Amino acid sequence: MAERLDELISGLTVDVPDHPEPGVLFRDLTPVFADGPAFRRVVEGLAAASASDPRAAALADSRAGERPFDVVVGVEARGFLLAAGVALHTGVGVVPVRKAGKLPRERIAADYALEYGTATLELHADSIRPGQRVLVVDDVLATGGTLAAAVTLVEQLGGVVSAVAVVVELSALAGRQRLAPHTVHALWTT
Ligand code: AMP
Repeated sequence: MAERLDELISGLTVDVPDHPEPGVLFRDLTPVFADGPAFRRVVEGLAAASASDPRAAALADSRAGERPFDVVVGVEARGFLLAAGVALHTGVGVVPVRKAGKLPRERIAADYALEYGTATLELHADSIRPGQRVLVVDDVLATGGTLAAAVTLVEQLGGVVSAVAVVVELSALAGRQRLAPHTVHALWTT
């Protein structure tokens, strides 16, 4: 197995040209998830990324080794796989941010821009308690619209975003600027 995590991820990721539409180079991470040792290292990397965040560190309890989040939020759908892994690894709960119309109970919504048109993400209104520290994870940071909407939802419920972590950051799309003042932790930036 490659030593460096970014090399491990890039080596297993499959680039699919023109998916889901012409001009998009889709980064398919499913082979990373399907590889047990690689998936474990990705989960550990996402969990550890937040530990190096000064904002998250400021939120962490003074007890040595305390993790700087109380719950992990994952964005539908590939973010679910990652968030569940990080939650299990760190012993906290997991909360789904879903596409419109999927959550059955009282929910809040945030619209975000797609290349053509808009989309909506939703969060159960009682899923985050005010003051809870939240790690938000997804697979790919592209324009940042998706994660910005997820962060907005968490903050609307009074949650404190301690860190935002992704497996891959597509730097040409400048998504991290959209997330400011939150720092995005990417395991592989390309
Ligand atoms: P964005 O809102 O532009 O940052 O897009 C991020 C969301 O779209 C993530 O949930 C990704 O799963 C997906 N996505 C966007 N662009 C790509 C890409 N080139 N390859 C794989 N997934 C992508």
